[in-house]
Amino acid sequence: MKTLQEWQAADAAHHLHPFTNQADINRKGSRVISHAQGAYIFEANGHRLLDGMSGLWCCNLGYSQPRINQAIAAQLEELPYYNTFFQCTHPRATELAQAISDKAPAHLNRVFFTNSGSEANDSVLRLINRYWDARGKPQRKAIIARQNAYHGSTIGGASLGGMGFMHEQFEPLRGIHHIPQPYWFEASKDVADMDEQSFGLWAANQLEQKILTLGPDHVAAFFAEPIQGAGGVIIPPDSYWPRVQEICQQYGVLLVVDEVIFGFGRTGEWFASQFYQLEPDFIVFAKGITNGFVPLGGVLVSDRVSEALLSHTNDLAHGFTYSGHPVACAAALATLEILAEGHIDKVKNELSQAMLDYWLPLADHPLVGQARCKGLVGALELVKDKSSKQRFAGNGRAGTVCRDMSLQAGLVMRATGDTMIIAPPFILDRNEIKDLTERAWQALDLAQAQLQQ
Ligand code: PMP
Repeated sequence: MKTLQEWQAADAAHHLHPFTNQADINRKGSRVISHAQGAYIFEANGHRLLDGMSGLWCCNLGYSQPRINQAIAAQLEELPYYNTFFQCTHPRATELAQAISDKAPAHLNRVFFTNSGSEANDSVLRLINRYWDARGKPQRKAIIARQNAYHGSTIGGASLGGMGFMHEQFEPLRGIHHIPQPYWFEASKDVADMDEQSFGLWAANQLEQKILTLGPDHVAAFFAEPIQGAGGVIIPPDSYWPRVQEICQQYGVLLVVDEVIFGFGRTGEWFASQFYQLEPDFIVFAKGITNGFVPLGGVLVSDRVSEALLSHTNDLAHGFTYSGHPVACAAALATLEILAEGHIDKVKNELSQAMLDYWLPLADHPLVGQARCKGLVGALELVKDKSSKQRFAGNGRAGTVCRDMSLQAGLVMRATGDTMIIAPPFILDRNEIKDLTERAWQALDLAQAQLQQ
């Protein structure tokens, strides 16, 4: 068994990390997570952390789920691999496509499998083109998405996303247009004459404006996360989604709801589209479908889109070697079975309330300009001055300090700029949510002490 220092040295010598300043971690030494149990992860030095992020928003049932492990092992014995190309299928892919369709809104009944959320969003781009071709409107090519959205890291996913710091590092695809996000906390600093709900309508109407500018007959689809996750758990005002839905319907623009984070229970419904009563043409999923244990993503497709796709007489020239991998599908089937045993109802009936009761009062901390939550996600806006909502200098430094202090307090919280975010596993109980928020308060105290130095 290697020592912590040996792991760090080997890592620095050979491993290039995603979303990491490589020079920085090579100097400091990476944090080595050696094992996990339930809702807790353990560092190689023995330090135990409550995982308030469920891994990367994926281990929604925590790390100890022997039934998923058994399903994986059994599938490796029965059929470890086969593909779903060229007119083949296998039992697990078929069962899973059916199981996901059963849980989705009634009008979504077909599934295309990928390995990840990024690939799923790329696949939607391909399917959208094919849909409009079949409908005899190939000129409908423009895509609208939102600033500060995250839709993945492939060229397609990162172009759909609206993160400027990502776009600076490559040449984004042409034809993808970004509209403002429904981020009330930030907007409220500038608009004295608007309340939250009118701002929600304003943000939704940006979609209509963009459609009219591009010409409705040139717009193919609108992509959005139900609540922006990586962008900072940005919960839209209640007025936002109904108006967006109305605009998509009015102009015949396809609605793509990226539920990579929210699918499979995080709002207390199977899909956030049910929570917000949306009628999407595509639901993009990944992450929680296998509880993060093996990679799997995919796209749920509406009946009207499927009908057009099925009308093509040539092959769909798109797919992945591991589309519908049997081991991943077996893991997903076990995950869905466990989720159905009360976990999603628990998010809806118990944990959402615990978040309101324990997370929202963090707004009383001197460092917090706003605390917000929905279902089982939460965010804290760190500010230097509560009344003016003025941020600290240093562009994200306060968030980084608070994230590091959170680790000291035994909690994994993530920082997006100066917004702290959490997405805890569904297996916590009310008392553990309370414990989580006490650790968050402690982290805020420690951060405040540092930031005031
Ligand atoms: N869409 C959303 C909303 C996401 O949060 C993510 C991942 N954080 C992705 C897409 C990309 O998924 P993956 O990392 O599996 O490619």
